[in-house]
This record gives sequence, structure tokens and C-alpha cells, in this order.
Amino acid sequence: MLELDSISCGYDAFRAVHGLSLILREGEITGLLGANGAGKSSTLMCVAGHVALQEGRILLNGEDISRLPVARRVHAGIAIAPEGRRLFKDLSVEDNLRIGGLIHPAADFRRDRDRVLDLFPRLAERLPLPAGNLSGGEQQMLAIARALMARPRLIMIDELSLGLMPKVIDLCYQALERLRSEGLAVLLVEQNTERALAVADHICVLESGRTVWTGSAAQARGDATLASAYLGLH
Ligand code: ATP
Repeated sequence: MLELDSISCGYDAFRAVHGLSLILREGEITGLLGANGAGKSSTLMCVAGHVALQEGRILLNGEDISRLPVARRVHAGIAIAPEGRRLFKDLSVEDNLRIGGLIHPAADFRRDRDRVLDLFPRLAERLPLPAGNLSGGEQQMLAIARALMARPRLIMIDELSLGLMPKVIDLCYQALERLRSEGLAVLLVEQNTERALAVADHICVLESGRTVWTGSAAQARGDATLASAYLGLH
């Protein structure tokens, strides 16, 4: 559904990502891996429209969306749970969800809210609390839930497991698997390589903004050189 056709992106004259090509399909999870500064967050933010595309094209179902502003991309079905979560911490959990769903009629709010609460039941008990009062894991759930309120076809999640306890990471990954089974495309940035390799269908590894490996997760799991050279495993 989404094709990155040799995209380069960055900040003014600085190029953070060089010529990345990637195809994301419905019902598949793609893991974008690499060390700090490899260009993973820049890639997600470029697809969302927040970071400048310098070269290449972004195609959504064959349509070139490279020049669309952020809001139009949200309407087109692209949502992001960004690095650092960027919640509205003084607002309630419910209002954070409301903001995520603002592109849809107010009358749809309860139905959409109940759908995301079914995915993250823990948030249902926290609805009136300020988002800043939640635990780190609950905040990550809320960031994903807020993104889902827009009813995306592609959800991008930056650093899903960073700083979270293993049990909470399990819950978030279970949610991801459910979203995949419902037909969403998922683009996942993870420092936790083993978790990403366990859940993803496809893997793309960046180093200093360049693609150094791409293929199925099964291939990645069996590639000892990749594991030791780029993924910090073994
Ligand atoms: P991390 O896990 O540390 O977030 P990353 O793989 O997501 O790493 P990016 O955050 O995309 O990497 O950074 C890629 C490059 O772009 C780095 O050299 C970084 O210093 C640079 N960069 C990121 N954000 C900005 C910005 N707002 N302005 C200028 N350069 C930036």
C-alpha cells in the first residue's frame, strides 16, 4: 500500500536518509532497525510529512503523496506514534484520544474510542486522568491508541519498547499482532532488535542513513553476519 521510492530526507542541507526504497503491505509488519542516528525516526517523520523529502517519491496505493501536507496524509490513512510519544500531558487520556480522532465526526468518537480501548483495556480505567500521570507503558499505549483514532491504514510506531517493562512490551506487541490481523500495515522502529525480529514480516536495516540490509524477518533471523555486524546480537 505504501511505497518509498528511493527517498532521501533530512534537515536543510543535511541528508539524514539516502535513497531508501521500501514497500509496505496491508497486514504486514516491517521493522526498521539500526543504531542511534541511522535515520529511522527521520524516515517515519518524512512519511508523515514532518521532515522534508529531498529526493524520491512516496506513493500511497500508487498515488504520489510526496507533496501532501501532514493533515492530508492523516486523512489518507497514515498515522504515527512518534518518538517520545508527544502526548498532551495536561489533558486527560480521553481528550488525547479525542484529538487523535478529530478528523472524524464527533458522533463517531465513542465507537472509535471503545474500539481502541478494546485493544488497550488498561486505558479504559484511566480515561479521566491527565496523560502525564500514566506510567511509561500506559503512555505508549495511549500514543498508539491516539494514532489509531484516525482509523489509519498504516501506523508507524517509533521506539515501541524503549524504557518499558517486559510485561508491558508483551501487551504492546500483542496489540500490534492484532492490528496486523485486522489488515493494517505497520512500520515499526525498534532498538529492541530481538523483539522486532520475532514479530516482523520484513526487516530493513539502516546505517548512517543508508540501507545495509533488507529482506524477510526469517532471512534476517538466519543471517549470522547481519546479526553480529548490525543488530548487536550474538
Ligand atoms: P535515534 O534512535 O537516536 O532516534 P534514528 O535512527 O532515529 O536514531 P534520526 O533521529 O533519524 O536517527 O537521525 C538521523 C540523523 O539526522 C542524525 O545524524 C541526527 O543527528 C540528524 N537529525 C535528527 N533530527 C534532526 C533535526 N531536527 N535537525 C537536524 N538534524 C537532525
